[in-house]
Amino acid sequence: MTSPTNRYPTIFELSVPGRKGVQYPKPDVPKAELPKAFLREELPLPELSAQEVIRHFTKLSQLNHSVDTGFYPLGSCTMKYNPKINEVTARLPGFAQIHPFQPAVTVQGALELMYKTQIWLGEISGFDAVSLQPAAGAHGELTGVLIIRAYHRSRGDVKRVKMLVPDSSHGTNPASSTMSGMQVVELPSDERGNVDLEALEAECNEMLAGLMITNPNTLGLFDENIQEVCQIVHQAGGLVYGDGANMNALLGISQPAKSGIDVMHFNLHKTFATPHGGGGPGSGPVGVTAELADFLPDPVVAITAEETQETVPFYELITPKQTIGRVKSFHGHFGVIVKAYTYMLSLGSNGLRKVSEHAVLNANYLQSLVKDTYHIPHEHLCMHEFVAEGQWEDAPGVIALDVAKRLMDFGFHPPTNYFPLIVHEALMIEPTETESKETIDAFADALLKIAEEAHDEPEKLREAPHNTPFGRFDEVKAAKDLILRTQLPEGYRK
Ligand SMILES: *Cc1c(COP(=O)(O)O)cnc(C)c1O
Repeated sequence: MTSPTNRYPTIFELSVPGRKGVQYPKPDVPKAELPKAFLREELPLPELSAQEVIRHFTKLSQLNHSVDTGFYPLGSCTMKYNPKINEVTARLPGFAQIHPFQPAVTVQGALELMYKTQIWLGEISGFDAVSLQPAAGAHGELTGVLIIRAYHRSRGDVKRVKMLVPDSSHGTNPASSTMSGMQVVELPSDERGNVDLEALEAECNEMLAGLMITNPNTLGLFDENIQEVCQIVHQAGGLVYGDGANMNALLGISQPAKSGIDVMHFNLHKTFATPHGGGGPGSGPVGVTAELADFLPDPVVAITAEETQETVPFYELITPKQTIGRVKSFHGHFGVIVKAYTYMLSLGSNGLRKVSEHAVLNANYLQSLVKDTYHIPHEHLCMHEFVAEGQWEDAPGVIALDVAKRLMDFGFHPPTNYFPLIVHEALMIEPTETESKETIDAFADALLKIAEEAHDEPEKLREAPHNTPFGRFDEVKAAKDLILRTQLPEGYRK
């Protein structure tokens, strides 16, 4: 075990003068002088054998926890297993080596794939039209709110600038609404974790542009009054934006458009199995009702010549009539779209429904194992995740952060903590459908053992993690004072 205070050696510290990792072949062209301006007096490079380089970077990669190495119940993030077949198809030369400026006739396969992805996402959600352009969930929200704004403006309804955002919504919801030029008003939740209907009605007036609701919300609960919520907003002339990042609970079971949602984004890099967490690329397609289809970002894929007995259909990019414009260069993150298409195709509609059934079952099973030990403020049937409190009245020295850090010693990634804000010392736990009963049992055992330690050996939690290469970081400093380049050691081959 490396002591938590040990610094990991940089590749320069491992360097040995004169050691080589590459054997260059004999030149098969005549020697030539290089232009002086391109030559450096000094170029400090590490000198290692090929094997040392491989070991160094493999070890570095193992310092990270990943879905491929362990359980990753990070609430709201849907860290499920991403089938490797998705990577294979995304790398097929016919997809990976085309250019977005190629004439449509030369890329019919890629356009057909995009078209079918639009159609399938529409079928899953109940929406009439879909844009694949947004790069991520929050970007889809921005796109959706711009669509809502364009809709009101097209009717001369320019006073509508207020977006209602429940306090159980994801943090990106108020942020993207504000970025779209809206004034955000927060709505409280009632004691069952639903939107407070009285508070909603009180905000419904001619200023109302719409409501942005995360459903299932960040408490892991499906709003029991979602249809009524949408009706109230519609009656006041507003539209409803649905944050669909939590579709992992709803596939094949509930279509958000049927509840009255007007526009919604999907997170392909959550629900549709693209690896994420390392910074992208992701994809946040947006679905809309027929009424809003003309406002979608430019372009969308359409069939411009129908199939006949002699010909196949012809796919082309077209501009929606009242488009809000482009929100992303080219056609979105095409590779992620190929992965989502592969994922949907390999599971089929029954398989997609099973995804959600198992995601919800796993979350409820885990909740039932820990609910007598960890207080769950909104304890009823949850969707694909639930929120517990990481604190006990009779163990005053321990907070949720200590529970989260101690979980790392058991080989688990900590759950999301201190979010959502409406639960004190929140631990937001999402097991996902791809985990086995054995893994969930082992995780529950760890949580129960940690609860015991919180009462008997609180200092053990406060100093955790003990078994990781590094201890506790100053997370604020790490984010504000990023050092992304390997620093040369003092005096390195000056
Ligand atoms: C992840 C998430 C988002 C934001 O998605 P990004 O792709 O990270 O921008 C929005 N809402 C919810 C509920 C989420 O879980």
